[in-house]
Amino acid sequence: MKDIIVVGGGPAGMTAALYGLRNGKSVLILEKHGFGGQITYSPKVENWPGTAQMSGNEFADALLDQVMAQGAEVDLAEVLRIEDRGSVKAVYTDDGQTHEAKAVILATGVKHRMLGLPGEQELVGEGISFCAVCDGDFYTGKTVCVAGGGNSALQEAILLAGKCAKVIMLQDLPEFTGEKKLQEILFSRPNVEKHTGVKITALNTEGGELTGVTVEKDGKTETVGCDGLFTAIGLIPENEAFKDLADLNAWGYFDSGEDCVTKTPGIYAAGDCRSKSVRQLTTAAGDGAAAALAACRYIDQQL
Ligand SMILES: Cc1cc2nc3c(=O)[nH]c(=O)nc-3n(C[C@H](O)[C@H](O)[C@H](O)COP(=O)(O)OP(=O)(O)OC[C@H]3O[C@@H](n4cnc5c(N)ncnc54)[C@H](O)[C@@H]3O)c2cc1C
Repeated sequence: MKDIIVVGGGPAGMTAALYGLRNGKSVLILEKHGFGGQITYSPKVENWPGTAQMSGNEFADALLDQVMAQGAEVDLAEVLRIEDRGSVKAVYTDDGQTHEAKAVILATGVKHRMLGLPGEQELVGEGISFCAVCDGDFYTGKTVCVAGGGNSALQEAILLAGKCAKVIMLQDLPEFTGEKKLQEILFSRPNVEKHTGVKITALNTEGGELTGVTVEKDGKTETVGCDGLFTAIGLIPENEAFKDLADLNAWGYFDSGEDCVTKTPGIYAAGDCRSKSVRQLTTAAGDGAAAALAACRYIDQQL
């Protein structure tokens, strides 16, 4: 049995592991996709204190190396369910295994919101992407649309503008909502077109490939041709499977405060997956530390 199982190998989960290990606890991190979480989609991170600039992948790799060097066990598996047996938590994964721990830290993060249009799921990876750093090269010299207007959309578009012939920004709100600095950088590029108040209503394809999108503005319908569509329209939490152990708020986030405590003793919620106003690396790392130290105190009190 492990002292702590961390569900999710993003910045919150890996920081939690680090703090648990430094307190002499054994830690297993279970991650369903790839270690690093959302930040691996970021081409450039410039607001991590003490490091002027790095890519999201560099950040994730360094953090994984650090927790491994401290003795973390890691496994690529999705946690499907957790059973609270009091002083023991049973964690069931999609590879048929059951792991046991004295405490569990839920650091499940968030996933990308979809537009909700017919054919969208089938086009993911085949014309629709959420990640310019992963897929941007496929569109070098081509035309892409970017759906969204917040920081993520602006960051994605800045990267794409350096590779693509044209980047067409499609924001459904009347204004772009991301940082002014990012807007200045993006909209100073000659190959970037800016559209606000436009709603994407259909995905157009030919032979299974994306050829463009249909948009609606002021009651008028128009077709915008493009080779790729990058969507950055928000994030949704993935907490449903654990709602019996940790209450969810109206938006599906764990209803936990800064102490990361849930209604179940020995279960903690850390990072973007919990109710909070700022979702960033710094806040995820802060939560990871708080949750791990709370879990350590809980374990020590059981002795
Ligand atoms: C494009 C982009 C750019 C960004 N740029 C910046 C930036 O410049 N600076 C900054 O501070 N922040 C940035 N962020 C935000 C930052 O990445 C997040 O705030 C941070 O990653 C949150 O960390 P987390 O560990 O809480 O969640 P996540 O990073 O979402 O990690 C959660 C992990 O849990 C895993 N998981 C979920 N459910 C399960 C399960 N049931 N079983 C096993 N594993 C599971 C997921 O696969 C994921 O790897 C950016 C985000 C994006 C998308």
